[in-house]
Amino acid sequence: MFAFRTVTVIPRLPREINRLRELAYNLYFSWNDCAVALFKSINPDLWEEVYHNPVQFLLQVDESDLKRAAASENFLSQYRQAIDSFDIYMQQETWYDKNKVKFSGAGQNQQDGLIAYFSAEFGLHESYPTYSGGLGLLAGDHCKAASDLGLPFVGVGLLYKHGYFTQLINQEGRQEAHYRYQNFSALPITPALDGSGRELLVAVELPGRQVHARVWQIQVGRVTIYFLDADLPVNSREDRELTGQLYGGDQETRIGQEILLGMGGVRALRALGYAPTVWHINEGHAAFLLVERLREFVEDKGLPVGAALEALRADTLFTTHTPVPAGHDIFNPEMIDRYFGYLYPRLGLNREQFLQLAHDQDRGGFNMTLLALKQCGFCNGVSRLHGEVTRSMFHTLYPDIPLEEVPIGHVTNGVHTLTWLAPEMRKLFNKYLGESWRRCVSDLPDWERVENIPGRELWEVHMSLKEKMVQFARRHLVQQRVRNHETLDRIKEVENYLRPEVLTIGFARRFATYKRAGLLFRDKDRLAALVNDQKRPVQFIFAGKAHPADKPGQELIKLINDVAADERFRGKVVFLENYDINISRYLLQGVDVWLNTPRRPLEASGTSGMKAAVNGVLNCSVLDGWWPEAYNGRNGFAVGEDWDFPSDDARDQHDYYSLFALLEKVIIPAYYEQTVGVPRKWAEWMKESIKTITPYFSTQRMVLEYTQKYYLKAHERSRLLSSRSYQVCHDLYRLKNFLRENWHHVKISGVETSGAESMHPEEKLTVRATVELGPVPRDNVCVEIVYGEVAVRGLKGIKAIPLSEASVAGETDRVVYAGDISLPQGTFGYTVRVRPHSPHFAHHFELPLVCWTSSL
Ligand SMILES: *Cc1c(COP(=O)(O)O)cnc(C)c1O
Repeated sequence: MFAFRTVTVIPRLPREINRLRELAYNLYFSWNDCAVALFKSINPDLWEEVYHNPVQFLLQVDESDLKRAAASENFLSQYRQAIDSFDIYMQQETWYDKNKVKFSGAGQNQQDGLIAYFSAEFGLHESYPTYSGGLGLLAGDHCKAASDLGLPFVGVGLLYKHGYFTQLINQEGRQEAHYRYQNFSALPITPALDGSGRELLVAVELPGRQVHARVWQIQVGRVTIYFLDADLPVNSREDRELTGQLYGGDQETRIGQEILLGMGGVRALRALGYAPTVWHINEGHAAFLLVERLREFVEDKGLPVGAALEALRADTLFTTHTPVPAGHDIFNPEMIDRYFGYLYPRLGLNREQFLQLAHDQDRGGFNMTLLALKQCGFCNGVSRLHGEVTRSMFHTLYPDIPLEEVPIGHVTNGVHTLTWLAPEMRKLFNKYLGESWRRCVSDLPDWERVENIPGRELWEVHMSLKEKMVQFARRHLVQQRVRNHETLDRIKEVENYLRPEVLTIGFARRFATYKRAGLLFRDKDRLAALVNDQKRPVQFIFAGKAHPADKPGQELIKLINDVAADERFRGKVVFLENYDINISRYLLQGVDVWLNTPRRPLEASGTSGMKAAVNGVLNCSVLDGWWPEAYNGRNGFAVGEDWDFPSDDARDQHDYYSLFALLEKVIIPAYYEQTVGVPRKWAEWMKESIKTITPYFSTQRMVLEYTQKYYLKAHERSRLLSSRSYQVCHDLYRLKNFLRENWHHVKISGVETSGAESMHPEEKLTVRATVELGPVPRDNVCVEIVYGEVAVRGLKGIKAIPLSEASVAGETDRVVYAGDISLPQGTFGYTVRVRPHSPHFAHHFELPLVCWTSSL
């Protein structure tokens, strides 16, 4: 192809409103309706046409429209208000400003913290489809909250030329995947520049070649995200496609993308002069950053690989997002040889050792989740239940340690409240909660004031949002029918679809089969009876994409479209094509009930239900993901049970019965039990849901929790382990080796306890344990009494209380440890163990070694 340069010609902004450009180039607009209202008021049709993208809007808007706006007093005052709140947002004192000392520390070796957050997808706004589902939306909301809190934080991702696919539903009700070309100059992104003001390029090695990438940046409030883009003329045609599609292509594309993201991302940050002290890997796709940083430690800092691996563990956090196997990338060893063989000698590793960094015994191959899990010092799942599930998935890495103590924690997901809250609801909150709720979304006392909102007022706002949603859904369906060349009758018919006064249930998410979109349709007659009830009808709105390679997911979409076309369900069950942030906002703000039916425990968290809840929409969900933490019996509905079933079929059958019973006996009657047009009980539930869910399930709470549980610790460890030319890393590496080699000498030769079979509360149970340490120094062990409630598999609610040294028997290596505990009422099991100890360990089981007593 021939070469060309691009030039973008944009209208001149009148001086009075020239800061519109700044607003357009900061994603701040995506959670501020006054910024949105500003653009919209200049030309509402164009605003829809450009799909709410302010940069594209400014590219296309007529100068005359701008002049007219600049001459309107009304517009100008709106403009000043929007600019003022933007300036305040960017300058005001933040949580971080007040807590900075925790990060910078005192004394020498002071270093400012910086968190680098790597993710393959970021869902920030509908105008740019860099997300496929919850993972991306979560990453976007994470960055927005990091900005709100003022955290020193940069994001790293890939810029996809086509993004994720556009879903069209054809006349047969089947999904078609289309890839739209994204014009980067019409997005709110700008090229990142290097120190000398030139556009920044980075390169990564792929087999037999280098691939170059340009770096773009996007501003999300105070936070910057950098995106790598391989679509450059210096790359071969195939390589330019590396950043073509999100989750497209084959294994070769996938590994190339992940190398670009992980290794290229680190290089981009370095070239920009960043020195992160905390590295957060959001799902395994970005885990190759570990390989690049290992290379840095070995080649640039001269550390031997053993110490380098310790340095790597110090400041890395890995968040895993799914227990579903398809969500974990695995590359075969031959592929790893082709892509990384050149690095083995440079890292000081042989082939076997490199593959061991991520070896997956069960499935064979190099598993990106294991790479992250084994090489990061900190790991977490995304809800309490998912934490448990993840610990049992990876228990084999820690075979001798109680399941509960497997060092994988959890931080339950949240949503960026202002991004998802309807402007109408925001006004209502301002009125009854006071303006301050916005600054401290995760503060509880404020939310009690939700009780002050009169039921009628809440209901009226909800109904107006529902009306808007119904109008939107009809327009959306008309567009689809027009495009599919349907008859005029079929197009006109849509005007009668969906009625705002009818109980409306929404279901929208990725169509992965475990989400069981078809659960409702197991008995169509029973469903038809509900939908066509004369007095108390129900209607359903579905939306969602299935990955183009997921045939069963696509069959589900077809199934629902077939139902929607069935005479009995026409206009009462609808499917909206191309689920995205825009559709999601309308539905989550406008339906009455948000339905969620995953096969427990496969939904790691789920977040759409949280977005629904902040808008007063009630969740009706299986007790999976986040819901068991939120559900209190008065703030929504629980489908099924929180126990295990012998088979998927048994569970599906049970959940289907439970869902119908809930609909028939609880949900429908409550909705239609209205006095003067207001369902009183329902409105109480809505308030309970807003009040109990909004503060906790916010990314504000979530990012603060990440900060307190992980970022601060990782930052501390990064400082400690890099001090004195990484001396601690050398020491740690030597210590761990020594302990691994000598641990078999450690024995508990005797345990004496005062305990009888039964005792009274507050009575002390004393324990003396004689331990033989062999060559292991006393400083490097911790002897503990471990107790917990007796459960099916061992103990639960485990507590470990260290015993202290009571006596050392002369010159021998035999040490007596003693201590006592007092137990509350109940049946407990207790035992004694020895585990390795060092003040430099990130957690108790840095080394998965333990010695349990056999003499109890
Ligand atoms: C919130 C959201 C999701 C994630 O929803 P889940 O409940 O986690 O399935 C997916 N897609 C869009 C467009 C969203 O807004």
